[in-house]
Amino acid sequence: MQLTDSHGRTINYLRLSVTDRCNMRCFYCMPKEGIVNKGHGAVLRYEELLLIAETAVGLGIEKIRITGGEPLVRSGIIGFLEKLALIPGLRHLALTTNGLLLEKLATDLHTAGVQRLNVSLDSLQPQIFSSITRGGDLQRVLAGLDAAEQAGFPPPKLNCVIMRGINDGEILDFVEMTRTRGNSIRFIEYMPAMKEADWQRYSIPGEEILQRIAAHHTLETIDKGPYAGPSRDFRIPGAQGSIGIITAVSGHFCSECNRIRVTSTGQAKGCLFSDERTDLMPWLRPPDRVGLAEVLKGIVSSKPERHDISQAGYTHKNFTMSQVGG
Ligand code: SAM
Ligand code: SF4
Repeated sequence: MQLTDSHGRTINYLRLSVTDRCNMRCFYCMPKEGIVNKGHGAVLRYEELLLIAETAVGLGIEKIRITGGEPLVRSGIIGFLEKLALIPGLRHLALTTNGLLLEKLATDLHTAGVQRLNVSLDSLQPQIFSSITRGGDLQRVLAGLDAAEQAGFPPPKLNCVIMRGINDGEILDFVEMTRTRGNSIRFIEYMPAMKEADWQRYSIPGEEILQRIAAHHTLETIDKGPYAGPSRDFRIPGAQGSIGIITAVSGHFCSECNRIRVTSTGQAKGCLFSDERTDLMPWLRPPDRVGLAEVLKGIVSSKPERHDISQAGYTHKNFTMSQVGG
């Protein structure tokens, strides 16, 4: 079965958030005081998340990425992932983490059936890392990367939000990791989810990031896998890891969008920057598989063609990325 939206795009990828809590406070993602605690019962139980995943896979979703908040802070996550990995028809199970708990959990994640890890890493300088994450410990994340490989994972993909004046001096250091450590790195444009005043001062278009790399390295374009979605991927000849550019804001992005999202409170979104969201709770409590499948199909078919975030005058309701899952 294949899920196709009304603009002809195949939708095969679900980003499923299991929590909006986090053990870091990246300034571009979360307010420093954290998020307001949702009342008891607002966050989906594991069996409800599983029902969403099974239903989505039954419709044609082939890849699920578990995200958050920080997915590894939710208790019982390993048991949930074990069940998820057994869903017939699910071809690819991945997880995005800030890496702080990876040293402790990498082996369990691998045994549970997670196939790939993405680790968010915005600086290789302890001070800058701590300042971006408001107190995060770089050494723990680096130890987590090692632990992941020791547990049997391929070198984790690194997600790096590049921000002018903050970490853009490290672009080439990250690129070097594709050769020295074999990690693939994806440079993500800073997205103004919380619409901070003068957010443009941080923003560096993906094209500029690419030019800065190309000034020092020969880059070859590489074919993307079937679930890669909207990144442009390159490689320094001979390097094990690839370099991806995600131009979420500046464009060339939406036409290849292959995903839908569900938040930890059961809000389904066809587009990260659309204010449209559908509350799945009525089909989860009590569970209604048939109704849920119809609602998910509707979310796919009404996926907007594109967002206009880079256009002057564009507005969206503020949200914190940790609530939606990035
Ligand atoms: N806590 C996990 C982590 O940090 O990897 C998973 C959730 S986090 C919300 C998912 C991704 O969203 C991270 O790679 C993070 O860098 C990215 N992200 C969060 N806020 C962002 C923003 N304003 N612009 C661009 N990327 C953002
Ligand atoms: Fe937490 Fe990830 Fe958001 Fe950073 S990007 S605050 S680690 S959810």
